[in-house]
Amino acid sequence: MSGQARAQVTLQCQRCNELFDTAIESEFTYTPLREDAEAPELPEAYDTFEVDEFGEINLVQVIEDELILNLPLVPVHENEHCAEGKYDMSFGDIPTTDERPNPFAILEELKRK
Ligand SMILES: [Zn+2]
Repeated sequence: MSGQARAQVTLQCQRCNELFDTAIESEFTYTPLREDAEAPELPEAYDTFEVDEFGEINLVQVIEDELILNLPLVPVHENEHCAEGKYDMSFGDIPTTDERPNPFAILEELKRK
């Protein structure tokens, strides 16, 4: 069974705490297995799930889980839409390579001795 799921959700930005709308999408390929079945060798793209005692699946549950798994762990706005986004690009001062001492400079000195 393969398919695509897409949902529009409202998440809270973990940087500025504002709510924002975003789409989550998922593509999935499943093969159903009976509870007592041995897992067959399957292509990597296949996920498995257990069918119930009637050999049926709860499709809504499968799709819901699929979408939840695709939610971002730390939801944040795109930088340009985030009130705090302009502060995100600060990494402190990193000296350019010219200013940093060359780690091999010591070898150069040893060679001259
Ligand atoms: Zn934000």
